[in-house]
Amino acid sequence: SREEIAYFGAGPSGLDNQIAVAASQAFLNYENSGLGLAEISHRSPEATKILADTKAALTQILEIPDNYEIILSHGGGSGQFSAIVFNMVAMWVEKRRRKAMEELDGDEGRVLERVMKEVRTQLRLDYILTGSWSLKASQEAAKLVEPLGKDIVNIVVDARKTSNKGKFDNIPEEGWNLTPNENYGNDESAFVYYCDNETVDGVEFPKFPPQLETKSDKERLIVADMSSNFLSRRVDVSKYAAIFGGAQKNIGITDITFVIIRKDILTTQPSNSFLHAVGIWSPPTILHYPTLSASSSLYNTMPIFSIWISLQITLLLLTTHHLSSPPLLGQEHLSHKKSSLVYTTLSAHPSIYNINVPHPACRSRMNICFRIKGGDEGAEKAFLKGAEERGLLGLKGHRSVGGVRVSCYNAVGVGKVERLCGWLGEFAEKEG
Ligand code: PMP
Repeated sequence: SREEIAYFGAGPSGLDNQIAVAASQAFLNYENSGLGLAEISHRSPEATKILADTKAALTQILEIPDNYEIILSHGGGSGQFSAIVFNMVAMWVEKRRRKAMEELDGDEGRVLERVMKEVRTQLRLDYILTGSWSLKASQEAAKLVEPLGKDIVNIVVDARKTSNKGKFDNIPEEGWNLTPNENYGNDESAFVYYCDNETVDGVEFPKFPPQLETKSDKERLIVADMSSNFLSRRVDVSKYAAIFGGAQKNIGITDITFVIIRKDILTTQPSNSFLHAVGIWSPPTILHYPTLSASSSLYNTMPIFSIWISLQITLLLLTTHHLSSPPLLGQEHLSHKKSSLVYTTLSAHPSIYNINVPHPACRSRMNICFRIKGGDEGAEKAFLKGAEERGLLGLKGHRSVGGVRVSCYNAVGVGKVERLCGWLGEFAEKEG
């Protein structure tokens, strides 16, 4: 039964049992309407209320400031790898256009000429590489901007170069080669991108990267992928231009992607004709943030059932930690407690378990990756087989990394983590 299973899969994650039971009812017959949530119109009053309640709950739990908008969309985190590039490059072009209009007294011909040249010579997208997902995002960006010129994607730092093993297993403290930023001056990058928690490699930024803190007269537009640690700790949303994530790990099931975006990005967008004139594609409508926002995330048919599940999870987090202030502090403590239990157990048996990320400060609280006896396949197989027999599932490491990965998302309770630690201890005793 569901209660006997402890599921540590990396995504999708398990669901809280109470929510899964309520969801099965809502799927069949939502609030006695005779229709299930996957059947009702996304434009019905019920759907409108679910959307509004979800945005309100997210605003409350993340303390999202008024100058931000929540967009619910499709396409997962991967869709956002492209959406971010389309929308942020367009914003960069618009800022350049406005500046040129001012400086060239509105002479449209010269404005066009100048911006066209700037696109070819000055457009930069800054990517910080700390794992497979930021790498993938940077590759998508490079593919999209390739027709505009070479070297537009600037790799700020690549953590493989500061690893003893040439792997994504650390966060470099120094050597960040950010594009100079003169606050709307000529060298501004369109955005700086990083992945807050690298799901495959088990590397997580312990806090907002100090290297990206805004200096007094400069502004950087920071974009963060929070697909795998969303709602697991406090976040100062005001530091970001955009935060995005797929729902299927910490806040729901597949199909929903959250984008929290600063409103000025929605209003600093050029006309399609100007974009085309300077040689840039206009964003596909389904990825165009201003369109999605103007339609209150109902540009096309939204999976209301999935949104409802995200709402239930957010409400459950709010009620579980109703005494904690700020609202995510309770979940932050819990996430820390769960990962500490696992890391402490692993560290107690150093001859059996080798944690992939050497430095404790950048070990992920969400995805704990380790090898057994230096990657002994037989021992790893035996560990996973024993785990399965005990109802501990979803522990196999990502195919590119191997070994074991324990994903402690929000739906994984402390009790389940303790059960896993029991098996970790038992296995180490047997093998030791
Ligand atoms: N970013 C991160 C950090 C992820 O973990 C994942 C999926 N595992 C993605 C992006 C891609 O998300 P999706 O599968 O929703 O496209």
